[in-house]
Amino acid sequence: MVGVAVTCVDTAGITRVKGVPARRLAEAAHAGVGLSPVFDVALVDDSFTSSARIGGPEGDLRMVPDLDALALLSPLPGWAWAPGDRFEQSGEPYAACHRGFTRRMVERARARGVDLVMGFETEWAVTRSASWGHEEAPPQAPFEGSAYGMTRLAPMSDYLREILTALDHAGVEVLQIHPEYAPGQFEVSVTPADPVRAADLVVLVQEIVRAVTVRHGWEANFGPSVLAGQVGNGRHVHLSLWREGRNLCGGGSGVCGLAPEAESFLAGVLEELPALLAIGAPSPASYLRLGPSRWTGAFQCWGPENREAALRLVPGPQGGPQSANAEVKCFDAAASPYLVAGAVIAAGLAGMDAKATLPQATHGDPAARTDGPPRLPENLPEAVTRFRKSAVLREALGDALFEAVIAVREAESALFDGWSPQSIANATRRRY
Ligand code: GLU
Ligand code: MG
Repeated sequence: MVGVAVTCVDTAGITRVKGVPARRLAEAAHAGVGLSPVFDVALVDDSFTSSARIGGPEGDLRMVPDLDALALLSPLPGWAWAPGDRFEQSGEPYAACHRGFTRRMVERARARGVDLVMGFETEWAVTRSASWGHEEAPPQAPFEGSAYGMTRLAPMSDYLREILTALDHAGVEVLQIHPEYAPGQFEVSVTPADPVRAADLVVLVQEIVRAVTVRHGWEANFGPSVLAGQVGNGRHVHLSLWREGRNLCGGGSGVCGLAPEAESFLAGVLEELPALLAIGAPSPASYLRLGPSRWTGAFQCWGPENREAALRLVPGPQGGPQSANAEVKCFDAAASPYLVAGAVIAAGLAGMDAKATLPQATHGDPAARTDGPPRLPENLPEAVTRFRKSAVLREALGDALFEAVIAVREAESALFDGWSPQSIANATRRRY
């Protein structure tokens, strides 16, 4: 090991890094490495906006690698990776640290005797390299083949094997990897974990996929939209609630085997989804993906095994209570996984406090019905309007993070105002 990539994810969803030589790692783990807080108001094009509390050239933070999560990036020889926690120079936790936010929400749940288990799915599209910019032609996949098809796995078998091998070297346990629906698209899912680890795994998996892709001379597109208006990349999150070792999402007395607490938690998440989109579908490009009848979960509803519902209940094989979980489908990879994990917990706990109940389940494609459930926000400004009104998310995130989210979303909406859909896709698809 020669160098360690210490990362955090910013408000715009970009993974930012400071490299630390291995021989300075112990010192970095003690005192941290310097990083400007301005990245909390950075945009996807690396320009900056500002919020009431964050912005400008002054100030510094200490980013401290979490060595418990250290993992080998074997496709980048000599490099390892560790997620960073951010602190003020005084040593106080930094109010806008995303990872700290996730941890705070995990502790809130634990104070109620509830543990969360989460797992994110990673989707990406492989394309031929092209110059960065927004005027270029639509991207090309380097190979053909059917959705979910062996015709796509076979020509890409070396590539996929290298990803599996590198994930194994990094200590990541893969559940499955497969060709997805869109041209050049794949998906990998990994074993669920506690929410902080689950969010860390998003970054680690993504960087391993990116590294292998780059070594093949291609580009990994994690952005929500690659071909505007067509099936894009989601980053669905699966979650289950546990009390004293029992999964409250299965084998219970309520609807679909949910225990009452799990139903209330999920009802809380469902209620907050329009506001949560400002966290989980945070880019103007997110709304090029989040359309009906593409399995993105564009409607504010839930349904057992319904891939068009924003909240899909997954009872597990034969209703196996241990594997039962719920999947939030409307989120994508422009999101900070740490903010997603924490905000979902905050919404769920609010539902538990209110003893909320789920409405009627939705069966079939809501787009095919006239009396169906409401559409989720169809653009970023609409999601931000809902987010501003969310007392639950404001309280949970705290003012610094809440304001930074609004500032970045508004600035990105303005940045891309008037651009064609494909130009927005091209300017964002490789950034995450
Ligand atoms: N690619 C789809 C999305 O944008 C998801 C497909 C699936 O259900 O895995 O969310
Ligand atoms: Mg998928």
